[in-house]
Amino acid sequence: MLQQTQVERVKDFFTRFIARFPDVRALAAAREPEVLRLWEGLGYYRRARQLHAAAKVIVADHDGRFPRTAAELRSLPGIGRYTAGAIASIAFDEREPIVEANSRRVIARLVGHSGPLGGTAGDEPIWEIARRLVPARRPGRFNQALMDLGAMVCSPERPLCGTCPLAAKCVANREGLVATIPRKAERRAVQRRHETAVVAVRRGRVFVVRRGDGEWWAGLWDFPRVPGRAARAARGIAACGRLGGLRCGVTARLGTVVHTVTHHRITLDVVRCAADRVGTAAADCRWVTPRQLAALALTSPARRIARLLRL
Ligand code: SF4
Repeated sequence: MLQQTQVERVKDFFTRFIARFPDVRALAAAREPEVLRLWEGLGYYRRARQLHAAAKVIVADHDGRFPRTAAELRSLPGIGRYTAGAIASIAFDEREPIVEANSRRVIARLVGHSGPLGGTAGDEPIWEIARRLVPARRPGRFNQALMDLGAMVCSPERPLCGTCPLAAKCVANREGLVATIPRKAERRAVQRRHETAVVAVRRGRVFVVRRGDGEWWAGLWDFPRVPGRAARAARGIAACGRLGGLRCGVTARLGTVVHTVTHHRITLDVVRCAADRVGTAAADCRWVTPRQLAALALTSPARRIARLLRL
């Protein structure tokens, strides 16, 4: 939960999640929709699906016992080099390095590494240095200290070099390179686009689709979408594959929901349509009552759309 998310935001989600799934067997036995529902609002849903998948692997392949080495941990879904190193060193005292935003910055400044950082290739030199630095004794303490130093002393904009315990050994400090290391990453330009969300209504039920693997919000439920603004999209609605041949006419504009996914800023016109028949809905599509809709794990834009509805 803490990947890409701050502690304050995670607290309540964590408490609810642990209350429902107090151990790995309880999580492994759960159905995915329930796991996603408890995650709803926290974002990055891939984490929830992979956590769930990892719990199943731990129960099936490790008899419910959590793996203790970084190598074993990395065979679990959703656990990469950083997470494996963090768990192995902090929980099991294995001599494994951790490179994340804070320790990466400290190490880059410490050795005067002015190359681009980020991504597998960019971070490889830092991993190599971290691997040599981490001690056999209390490796977890060392890794946490490095991360804390980055968070509290060697901050991105105003590092406190005057009080830093590494100041005497720090190349960036000695050579006046602190402001230029790490090298700033080029920001990706924001892509803007319009889409239309179709709220098809029939006999008090609305039509929802589940986002597939490889899509944003995979596994969560959403309203079908067609490209373009509402006016232009109206004719395209009948042709929307996810509606399964459903025919419907736009009866009202419900509003606009603007949301951002990665570097995409999407303006989503929301239209209500009266469906003349149920259609031959594909798998992962459903007609649901307002009550069922409230209980589904929805994408965040779909949750906002649900609030616009008066069913
Ligand atoms: S001396 Fe300054 S730049 Fe170097 S590690 Fe310490 S805080 Fe960071």
